[in-house]
Amino acid sequence: MIKKIQELEAIARQLEPNEKDRNELAQKVFDHTSDFLSSLDNSNAFFQNPVPGTQKGIDEQATSIDKLLRSLKSHVEEDGINAASGGHMGYVPGGGLYPSALGDYLAAISNKYAGIYFPAPGAARMENMLIRWMNDLMGFPSDATGNLTSGGSISNLIAVVTAREAIGAKAKDFDKLVVYLSDQTHHSLQKALRIAGLGEAQLRYMPVDKEFRLDISTLEKTIKADKSKGLIPFFLNASLGTTNTGTIDPIRPMSEIAKRHNLWFHVDAAYGGFFRMLPEIQDRSKGIENADSVTLDPHKSLFLPFGTGAVLIKNLKALYQAHRYTADYLQDLIDSDSEVNAADVSPELTKHFRGLRMWLPLKLFGLAPFRAALEEKMLLAQYFRTELSKVDGFEVGPKPDLSIAIFRYVPKSGEANKFNERLIKSIQDDGRIFLSSTTIHGIFWIRIAVVVFRTHKEKVDLLLKIITEKVQELIQK
Ligand SMILES: *Cc1c(COP(=O)(O)O)cnc(C)c1O
Repeated sequence: MIKKIQELEAIARQLEPNEKDRNELAQKVFDHTSDFLSSLDNSNAFFQNPVPGTQKGIDEQATSIDKLLRSLKSHVEEDGINAASGGHMGYVPGGGLYPSALGDYLAAISNKYAGIYFPAPGAARMENMLIRWMNDLMGFPSDATGNLTSGGSISNLIAVVTAREAIGAKAKDFDKLVVYLSDQTHHSLQKALRIAGLGEAQLRYMPVDKEFRLDISTLEKTIKADKSKGLIPFFLNASLGTTNTGTIDPIRPMSEIAKRHNLWFHVDAAYGGFFRMLPEIQDRSKGIENADSVTLDPHKSLFLPFGTGAVLIKNLKALYQAHRYTADYLQDLIDSDSEVNAADVSPELTKHFRGLRMWLPLKLFGLAPFRAALEEKMLLAQYFRTELSKVDGFEVGPKPDLSIAIFRYVPKSGEANKFNERLIKSIQDDGRIFLSSTTIHGIFWIRIAVVVFRTHKEKVDLLLKIITEKVQELIQK
């Protein structure tokens, strides 16, 4: 047996490259990423013609790093949307800050078990400190808590199950629960309700006004009518930045109605939350401090790489009620009086030490450049809308609350929706800038979402040029 163990050890040790090999590997990866970043400014935001063919599977043989990096470039990096590009203005992008990649590297090397205080007190403290910073930014009290999640969808899920526990809802009543939202609410909320077992809950889509803000004029009446029918008004969602148009709902009046009727008040600030670093947006999102829960997405308006969301919640008891478990094999754990375990407030146990990818850029750069970048992106969206509205034939949507604007071209003859379908296709085919489109109340709109930290005026000017050129081409066809 000893001989067998030694034989196996010799092979298994290939998993531990020595210092020289490590440095060589790291250097090659570093050179690769360096080339990637240096060419970003001139590379496409969208690759229309990906390299065809499937990737080779996993086998017994080792493959050289050179070969792997070449394959990564052609099969993954130069394929689909280039999410790191300043030309990516579709959906709600973010970019992926460089120091976050280094943070991930550091986290993966030490492999700290950040989900629980006992095995990694410093990691737990770091993540909780970041949560306190976000709570402070939302005007939440110092004893509010939360979790660094993998994204806004999981944040919304945690908020929904916590709300369900907070009112002690029983399965027999699930079909009587009423959720109030607008038709501009992100679909992850409905998805969260279904996952939380609340698929039978009643959804009340409140109308929106001309600027796509939830219209509160009939909200209270609707809640009262529901109560009188024996239903249980339960949850009210406001968006701090809708995904379609970046609109901020009337958060304060909504928070007051929620309070009067004892509803769980949730603010989905996945896109817009970090814009609260700007005093103007703090003003326009007043009332968020009254929320029971807030969803944030550092991988959007804090520019982190994908895989970082956050949920902030005041009611720790309900949060525990929904998520906290103990187990025989965890009996060595010693709880901290002051630190919450991530594992007790989320569906995860073992988890990625995400805090490090957020902590490193925030500390390294300080807040000033983040604040400047967010204001710059807002102004760029306004600039884009103003410039495009000067061009004959274009219709623009409402003045952006944040950094998303919508527009369409209204041709002199023919169907506008069809024309804009062709327009978005030709912008995407061009590939230098990536935009996405949406349909709101039957009208086809093209969106521009300025959220990547690498997007500056030059790219927006290029976009204006591309759009007007493509319209001319389509008209002439
Ligand atoms: C992006 C987004 C979500 C979902 O977040 P993911 O990180 O994609 O899971 C939820 N709500 C809003 C308003 C969003 O913009």
